[in-house]
Amino acid sequence: MSGPELRVSLDAFADNLRAVRARVAPARPMLVVKDDAYGQGLEPIVARAAASGIDLFGSFDVATGLRVRAVAGASARIFAWQSTGEADITSALEADIDLGVGDRDFLRLVGAVAAREWRTARVHLKIDTGLHRNGVRPEHWSDALDEARALQRAGATRVVGIWSHIAEASDAEDDLARARFDSALTQAQDAGFTLELRHLAASAAAFAREEFRYDAVRIGAFAYGVRSAGGPGEEMLGVTPIAQLRARVLRVDPGEATIGVGWAHGLPAALAGRMRVRSTYGEHDVTGIGMDETRIASSAELSPGDEVIVFGPGAASATDLAETLGTVGEEILTRVSPLVGRTYL
Ligand SMILES: *Cc1c(COP(=O)(O)O)cnc(C)c1O
Repeated sequence: MSGPELRVSLDAFADNLRAVRARVAPARPMLVVKDDAYGQGLEPIVARAAASGIDLFGSFDVATGLRVRAVAGASARIFAWQSTGEADITSALEADIDLGVGDRDFLRLVGAVAAREWRTARVHLKIDTGLHRNGVRPEHWSDALDEARALQRAGATRVVGIWSHIAEASDAEDDLARARFDSALTQAQDAGFTLELRHLAASAAAFAREEFRYDAVRIGAFAYGVRSAGGPGEEMLGVTPIAQLRARVLRVDPGEATIGVGWAHGLPAALAGRMRVRSTYGEHDVTGIGMDETRIASSAELSPGDEVIVFGPGAASATDLAETLGTVGEEILTRVSPLVGRTYL
């Protein structure tokens, strides 16, 4: 076997989940598993999360929600916030998936489909708190609540949650978003809605700021041990990266060696000359990244077949590499090609 391998420690993942839960309590952690659980492999991640007591999942789309349902079982609560049309709504109703709803037309469509199916759709209404990435604008919020109340009386939908998404880029902007969120919540409560799941924060705000936690927090990155670029370190967060990209030495030449991983596997070519990998003999500068091979500097010790850690525990983290490129660790991880074998410890 000469291909690279993404080795995922499910024990480290379970440790991270414990740290997340302790940090955000009494809010409930909703594990976000979009992009194939940030490249770590949806099914094993969901199975371990469910076994560790996670009962709330954020799937992004309905198709992913169905995969979560198949693994996590009937009692898991699954929230899909990106749904596109009637077929999606029908699937969500059949699989008992909560739907994120960010505009009134879509709310009406959900209501119409649910009425036709003789079901009640559980919806989480999204208020736009400033990101303008879908969500009901504050000036339309009370109309949306009226609509939701009518649909709720008819039994077609039930508003179980209100949510929004924030930039987590500056405290001041987030505070402003939170004020808008609070006023949307107050209006909903005044309109008679009983809310079970109010959720606003993702990893960074959930960890840093208690007042952003409400009933639930949507956690992706930190559960996988991916710290924010430019943010607090893993030690301070109490989480560790769970995935390690490994490759094997293919050839050894004077002063350098070639390892079997390249940009086609998802290692950004722009990292050539700007990262180091680790073997049992120590660190090696990466001098060139090709399609499926990478050259590393090496004195004599390496032999073909030796394993090298490209990133992850033992070498630079995905976020370390991301910082070199001015991006985020999630991007390094989700770029790891599906052709790279995943193994689980
Ligand atoms: C991806 C995503 C999250 C998780 O964000 P992290 O920073 O990875 O924890 C939360 N909410 C929404 C809407 C997302 O798209």
